[in-house]
Amino acid sequence: MRLILAFLALAAPAFAEQDIADQYPGSPLYQKPVEVIPHVWSAIGATAPPTYENSGHNNNLSFIITGDGVIVINGGAAYILAKALHQEIMEITDQPVKLVIDENGQGHAMLGNSYWAEQGVPILAHVDAAHEFEDRGPQILEGMQRYNRDKAEGTSLAGPTETFEDKRVIEMGDFTIEVLHLGPAHSPGDTQVWLPEQSLVIAGDMAFHERMLPIFPDTITYDWLETWDTEFEALGATYVIPGHGHPTNMAQVRRYTRDYLIYLRAKIRAHLDDGGSLDDAYYVDQSPYAHLDTYEELATRNAGYVYAEMEFE
Ligand SMILES: [Zn+2]
Repeated sequence: MRLILAFLALAAPAFAEQDIADQYPGSPLYQKPVEVIPHVWSAIGATAPPTYENSGHNNNLSFIITGDGVIVINGGAAYILAKALHQEIMEITDQPVKLVIDENGQGHAMLGNSYWAEQGVPILAHVDAAHEFEDRGPQILEGMQRYNRDKAEGTSLAGPTETFEDKRVIEMGDFTIEVLHLGPAHSPGDTQVWLPEQSLVIAGDMAFHERMLPIFPDTITYDWLETWDTEFEALGATYVIPGHGHPTNMAQVRRYTRDYLIYLRAKIRAHLDDGGSLDDAYYVDQSPYAHLDTYEELATRNAGYVYAEMEFE
């Protein structure tokens, strides 16, 4: 029996990672933070939907130990996640956390702000992300409380204390940190944190690879591709910490973000040219991406939203 299970695990590697409920027992974090390049760390979340088991840690919570304070990227999906991340930081350095940057207005970027606000740490986000959280905050909080139950305790709505529009440059310790909004991509106010000297970008949800990217009703894939080609590629980043999944490089996120969007749009374009309906659009062939985590949850939905977008293009 044991042998058969081992074989099954090998036979289905694509689903293995998504189905591991927790890789850091004893901490609400899904994984222990790792140092990606000198002084830049990330706690990599599950490449899966948020659940009670992963405590909603399904995106990357990163931090930069600058030499003169720590900058945290993402509030996380709950108070307990931000607190757990802070405990990890305090084990690594005595430098205080001086700023939190939220990478968009979604729950897993902003709900944990409540912990950081309590510590008196300033929180920075793009102005559109701040609006999104203001509009949808109560609904986002309820959604988190539904899956996180008792683990939602302590979490309240705390928006950013500061906003930016195009760019905010921060000099702290040994780091120059450019907080950027390169243009429309996956959701309102998508933010990238660019370290020009290290050639590393903390890309947020501009860039995906191990899990399928989500398309939302207000996502315009045409604009996402334009932002990618004209702005994101222009950074010339060597290292990428995406919003979800392990740190990687540009070639890999290009394959599974830009190339996937182009692929899906071409499939929907062909379907539209054939006079195809929305009902059938859900089932255009996306099999080259079937090995990605969250494929089951997102592939058909993505196709529907792209159809709605392209119908009037
Ligand atoms: Zn995300």
